[in-house]
Amino acid sequence: MSIDRRNILRLGLSLPVLLSAGATSALAGQLGDGMPAPRRKPDGTSVNAKAKPVIMIDPGHGGHDPGAIGVSGAYEKDITLDLATRIANRIEGGGRYKVVLTRKNDVFVPLTERATLAQLAKADLFISIHADSAPNPDARGLSAYTLSETASDGLAAAIADRENATDVLRGIDSGVSDPQVAAILFDLSRRHSLNTALARKAHIVQVAGAKLRLLDHPKRSANFAVLKVPDVPAMLIETGFLSNAQDEKLLTSDKSRAQIATVLADAFVGAMAVA
Ligand code: ZN
Repeated sequence: MSIDRRNILRLGLSLPVLLSAGATSALAGQLGDGMPAPRRKPDGTSVNAKAKPVIMIDPGHGGHDPGAIGVSGAYEKDITLDLATRIANRIEGGGRYKVVLTRKNDVFVPLTERATLAQLAKADLFISIHADSAPNPDARGLSAYTLSETASDGLAAAIADRENATDVLRGIDSGVSDPQVAAILFDLSRRHSLNTALARKAHIVQVAGAKLRLLDHPKRSANFAVLKVPDVPAMLIETGFLSNAQDEKLLTSDKSRAQIATVLADAFVGAMAVA
């Protein structure tokens, strides 16, 4: 699959990125009306303005990487794609925001490229959707993470390690192990967007918690590679634990998945008003 250079050039970016086939296919077809294409002012000069704010939704895992596997065999990658698609459809239906997905089908996209896609899109909000597992089979409920060099607790650290391993297993340097790069990205992220991400995380957890079961201490933080997106408020949502039979049932039931997607979509839209 070739990279659609025309679309990438339209972004007017100088980022020296070479995207994988998975990432390229994620961009293709979504750039058209969702990305910040140059506009002309009346005097003929161009301005880079977005027609609508962009929310980028990242369905975790995909392709050869199934993510967590549930006690009854459900794949995290399938649950995240379905949830993200439903969330995207609902938000788009509201008409106020453009939604871009980092993948629209069962393909592998490295974590570093997911973060790059958010930068390319100049996303106003980036949310990575997951459903992990934990050694404790009783652990259940939704939690939301923002970027931090230090994890909020042992479970948060373990979950970040699991999620980051996706790239490590493929021999891709996600940047997590490079302290200099990590420090630069973290500093940029902190300076420009972490406060926004923290406020929006609080809003989303509050709204979601009124209708969905939450994990203990649901506002968490850890060193996730996928959240290293300078200038973009970014968070990762663990929608539940596939290591818990009840959570797996909810995440694989069509009815409750629709409900989860509706609650999250409305929470994300509400969060956009939180600066
Ligand atoms: Zn995951």
